[in-house]
Amino acid sequence: MDLRIRIADLMKEVGSSKDVEVAFDKPEITVGELLFKFPEPPVAELSITNAEESVLVRGILKGSAQTSCSRCLSPAMTEIKIKIEEEVLSIDEIESDDAEGLPEQYSHDYDSIDLSPMIEQSLIIDLPAAPLCKNDCAGLCPVCGLDRNLEQCDCELERTDPRWDALNSLKQGLSE
Ligand SMILES: [Zn+2]
Ligand SMILES: [Zn+2]
Repeated sequence: MDLRIRIADLMKEVGSSKDVEVAFDKPEITVGELLFKFPEPPVAELSITNAEESVLVRGILKGSAQTSCSRCLSPAMTEIKIKIEEEVLSIDEIESDDAEGLPEQYSHDYDSIDLSPMIEQSLIIDLPAAPLCKNDCAGLCPVCGLDRNLEQCDCELERTDPRWDALNSLKQGLSE
């Protein structure tokens, strides 16, 4: 599906707006070291408004993504529900000196807007940095690598951080 939305009709009158529904066009996305796959394309329901100085894009992006649990590495699903609220300037304004530093892809050329980079950026910002298969995932044993959601191991999981040793000996000294 093309994520380029025609806005020529909106540019005729300030205040006019239209609703669009677009599906994100990539089957997966990488954020940091995590890969998120979309079983179904995430769908954005957006309202696009001619606000004279700019074009406003507002709405919500919904869907789900499959990734791996950051604790136990088994598959994890994450729900996508992202509010989108962006102000899109014209290509002329973006290229003027005042707007230096603004991303060029967030621009319209009076004829159309490409919503793809906006949706992609929203996903990158909002997808979880440490997804979990379930809230209380026990993770893998750091000693033997066993999935502690499935089995218990007998590994000693003592803190070996020397800063805690100092604190512990201090506590022992106090209780003696
Ligand atoms: Zn997990
Ligand atoms: Zn273990």
